[in-house]
Amino acid sequence: MSHVITEWCQGTCDTSCVDVCPIDCIQGPLPVNEIRKLQLDGKRDRLREIQMYIDPETCIDCGACVPECPMKAIYEDFNLPERLAPDASRNVAFFQ
Ligand code: SF4
Ligand code: SF4
Repeated sequence: MSHVITEWCQGTCDTSCVDVCPIDCIQGPLPVNEIRKLQLDGKRDRLREIQMYIDPETCIDCGACVPECPMKAIYEDFNLPERLAPDASRNVAFFQ
């Protein structure tokens, strides 16, 4: 089991989940400081192209990231809505 970041992260990707993860298992396609610069610069189009992902091999299912997400984009994998099922695979694939 692990938590999964879904497509609802895209366009916001504020990286607040990263700060609370006790084992640093949340990563994205760019370094966090670069993503935060996109936020500061208001680069919404660029943010729509990216999201963060959770490494399912190391996530300890503590749940700390869930309430931090303004988009309610983070789910336990066993509670993932059917429509968002492909997002679990995309989290796995990001770390392969
Ligand atoms: S559930 Fe815990 S360990 Fe897993 S990504 Fe969220 S904060 Fe990190
Ligand atoms: S807190 Fe939510 S919106 Fe922000 S980066 Fe994490 S998953 Fe994406």
